Amino acid sequence: MRNFMSNLRNRFARFMYGRYGLDQMGRFMTGAVMVCLVISLFFGGRGIGTVLYWIALILLIWSYFRMFSKNVSRRYQENVRFLALKRKIAGPIAKRWAHLKQRRTHVFFKCPSCGQKMRTLKGQGEKQITCPKCHTQFTKKT
Ligand SMILES: [Zn+2]
Repeated sequence: MRNFMSNLRNRFARFMYGRYGLDQMGRFMTGAVMVCLVISLFFGGRGIGTVLYWIALILLIWSYFRMFSKNVSRRYQENVRFLALKRKIAGPIAKRWAHLKQRRTHVFFKCPSCGQKMRTLKGQGEKQITCPKCHTQFTKKT
């Protein structure tokens, strides 16, 4: 049994030799397949459920195609483009999310003179603020 398993592993390693394998884009696609399938099950294979099922299937085939592809440089370029796109989309979302979370503990405001964005802790009452950029002083209710 152990021999059989290691034999299988060897054969798989030989099969994968020179092939691209799994990268960040592949892992993201695999995750997207799972999400699509779960939502599709939730809709019970009707309407949107059917659409998501097909999207999951196409993503699955596509991710396997990339994994077993021998055109390594091309797949690599795809992954680079994917990571750039991910940064472009996820960056602002993360920033927004952090801002939203801080809203509970901080007040956000702009300097009345130069428009510099600032924040301070909530619940300090009337507070004397000095703008770090233009040094204008003003009071702010916190
Ligand atoms: Zn200012």
